[in-house]
Amino acid sequence: LFISFEGVDGVGKTTQVGRLRDYALSLGYDVVVTREPGGTPLGRALRQLLLHGVSSGADDDAAAAPQPASAADIAPRAEALIFAADRAQHVAEKIRPALERGAVVITDRYLDSSLAYQAGGRELTPAEIRNLSLWATDNLLPERTYLLDMDPSQSHERLTHSADRMEAAGDDFQKRTRRAFLDLAQAEPERFLVVDAARSVEEVWRTIRADVDAVLAR
Ligand code: C5P
Ligand code: MG
Repeated sequence: LFISFEGVDGVGKTTQVGRLRDYALSLGYDVVVTREPGGTPLGRALRQLLLHGVSSGADDDAAAAPQPASAADIAPRAEALIFAADRAQHVAEKIRPALERGAVVITDRYLDSSLAYQAGGRELTPAEIRNLSLWATDNLLPERTYLLDMDPSQSHERLTHSADRMEAAGDDFQKRTRRAFLDLAQAEPERFLVVDAARSVEEVWRTIRADVDAVLAR
């Protein structure tokens, strides 16, 4: 069983992933919890790039002094390819092997994040991002996707760390991203469950658990 959690930053995905992991473990399942970007060693290097940018100017053979990290210097198409590379490695190295041995795999973000952020947020072409993602994963889709939905201006107030490169992208970006997530859910109602994430952790978890029970029973 392959389950993904999606939503804008600060909606509580990581907390709910933890709840679901504990629950599935208590039912006796082999459980693998993972995330994007950064679910593998290669992915962690890519995550570092995506969140903190690169230091500019340092040619291999140039004796230039280190430059400050320039956070805005990843072009949207390059960014989309880095996320796709992260995902390709994630599926090949971690997700597929786990599914093949029968584990329940729970991922904190997957390809819908690329559709929401790189297509919705960065305004690349959705069909191209979808094709890129499906190529990267060799067509592996989750069986169930929980979209934790809330107003991004509210969810961002919950973030305790200072904003990284992606989170600092601004209000309109976050609103486009949320809208794109909701549109994806509407287009694939069999796979998605939209969960109102503005409620308490307990209430959100009760909604998800009831759905998981139904998914496990089918
Ligand atoms: O969820 P997490 O904080 O680990 O994600 C890292 C950052 O990357 C987030 O700020 C999220 O907005 C961004 N992201 C993205 N495109 C993706 C996945 C994540 O822009 N496909
Ligand atoms: Mg974040």
